[in-house]
Amino acid sequence: MQDTFRHKGLRKKLIEQLRLKGITNEAVLQALEKIPRHLFLDLAFLEFAYQDKPFPIGSGQTISQPYTVAFQTQLLDPKPREKVLEIGTGSGYQACVLAEMGVKVFSVERQKKLFEKAKTFLPELGFQIRLFYGDGYKGLPPFAPFDKILITAGAPYLPEALIQQLKPGGRLVVPIGNSNHQEMTLITKLPDGTSEIKEFGGFLFVPMLENKAQD
Ligand code: SAH
Repeated sequence: MQDTFRHKGLRKKLIEQLRLKGITNEAVLQALEKIPRHLFLDLAFLEFAYQDKPFPIGSGQTISQPYTVAFQTQLLDPKPREKVLEIGTGSGYQACVLAEMGVKVFSVERQKKLFEKAKTFLPELGFQIRLFYGDGYKGLPPFAPFDKILITAGAPYLPEALIQQLKPGGRLVVPIGNSNHQEMTLITKLPDGTSEIKEFGGFLFVPMLENKAQD
């Protein structure tokens, strides 16, 4: 597992591209500059790791493109020591970006292979992230409430159980829609328990699947 001078240089360039595309949150940009994204990809894709593109991570899933990770994280606006729930661990890259920002990360994945891979790999990288194998639609009731919730798969509708597990004043970021188009949505739970919904344009994610967890 090497993170060379060349990799670091490529990351710097990527961060400049993300700035040009409109990412302004310095804490987010710094975290992306720190995390060695190439280590989350299969060897075959090593040289593409620092292009602003999504890539396959096995089990038919993808690691989101860096711009999408940065955009979602900026909308979520996590602060150090906050409790954040991520749905869709995938490669674990997004979870590490959050952890690098000082957040206490809880992440749920429904594909057993990806869950197990992340469970071994993230500690090797030095990240202590609480990983769970299960159905993200249910959230994590024993650890609720959360300051922030981030869904990194395309949800057909707003999962009600997750809104319930959000603290008053908390933020939930989720791409909502069908397989052709998902609207990036920010739900803010107001102190009186009602929610405010704002939309931030179209994205494309792998679907958030319902029902039982999968081997
Ligand atoms: N955040 C990931 C990318 C996620 S891709 C990264 O940084 O690499 C979306 C992930 O959501 C996939 O791994 C998929 O298996 C998972 N997923 C889909 N439906 C889910 C559900 N109901 N509960 C938990 N995970 C789910």
